[in-house]
Amino acid sequence: MQHSNIVGQERVVHTLKRTLVSGRVAHAYIFHGPDGVGKKAAAFALARALQCVSLVDGEACNVCGPCSKALKGLHPDIHVLMPTTNDATHDDISARLMALAQDPYVIVDFQRRPTLDGTATSSNKQVYYSVEMVNESLRRPMSFHRVEGEYRVGIILDADKMKTEASNAFLKLLEEPGSKTVFILTTDRIDHILPTILSRCQQMRFDTLSVAEITEALMQRDLVDEQSGPVIARMADGSLSRALDLAGSEELPLVRDEVLSFLRLSFQGRGDVVTSAVDSLSSMGREHTKFFLLVMLGILRDLFLLSGAQSTELIVNVDQIETLSKFVGNLPDARIDYMIEAVEQVSYLLERNVNTRLALIALSRVLSNAMRGDRAEIALSLAS
Ligand SMILES: [Zn+2]
Repeated sequence: MQHSNIVGQERVVHTLKRTLVSGRVAHAYIFHGPDGVGKKAAAFALARALQCVSLVDGEACNVCGPCSKALKGLHPDIHVLMPTTNDATHDDISARLMALAQDPYVIVDFQRRPTLDGTATSSNKQVYYSVEMVNESLRRPMSFHRVEGEYRVGIILDADKMKTEASNAFLKLLEEPGSKTVFILTTDRIDHILPTILSRCQQMRFDTLSVAEITEALMQRDLVDEQSGPVIARMADGSLSRALDLAGSEELPLVRDEVLSFLRLSFQGRGDVVTSAVDSLSSMGREHTKFFLLVMLGILRDLFLLSGAQSTELIVNVDQIETLSKFVGNLPDARIDYMIEAVEQVSYLLERNVNTRLALIALSRVLSNAMRGDRAEIALSLAS
């Protein structure tokens, strides 16, 4: 079954359809918003629609010759670029782009998938666009005559990964757009894009997806049943890519145990035990730690719901209610709001390259205090 269609994002879909019906296509678009909500899906859908020979109400038909080629990642007038490590092979990049063309919600970037099959979970290699990549893979092909399509389309995924030189090379392309040339940039960090690039792009904002939208998409892919669908959808925090990852992951139950044990150890507050838990956690890499914190956030939100008079309908970890209720019962003084705040702060710091190990030790200390009803600051704990 085909999974190329855009899930949700009605406002964006409506605008794109209107553009295609009217034929007033901009030279450049930038699709921005959180990760995993459909920016790539929309970029591919727009590229396909621009080449499609039998548009249906402003949407690609998905069956004509050009659409079929685009869906296989083989259309000669659609050039897709992704940031890479400097030792990535051509075959590896092609395999990733091919997978994306078929399902633009799957995670294939070099940062989160150092190897496409997921055997390596972390890498410290830098992922970026070099000026050579912009020239070789974009400037050259975009300056050729169109092979068979109506437009030449360049899709630049994670455009925030362009270094200054690469940005400037790309800016030159943007400044002298050929006719029937369309660039589509995607990013979840619009603040990292040069203002001179932004000002030449039509900006479209993408929002997080609803639990219902994610559940339905997971069910269509036969990945979940009616019970597990909403659990995973809630945990995914509005990102379908994250949900797909969770649905296919055997890791989730293990990480949940890891989180519960981290909370217990933090409460007991034995420095040596916490340190060895943190060591084993941080040895699994930054991405694992981010996932760990995401799962922890889900559990803390559940604890918050259980500790108050709130409805339990919104609980994510429905299968863990008994354990979680016990937790709440045993810690009547706990300030779960402080705990949530601390996890959010640490997640924020990790995005800014703070040392994982130190951040987790600080987190453990702050959680321990919060479980006794006391407030402590992550920043102060990090500094001490
Ligand atoms: Zn078509």
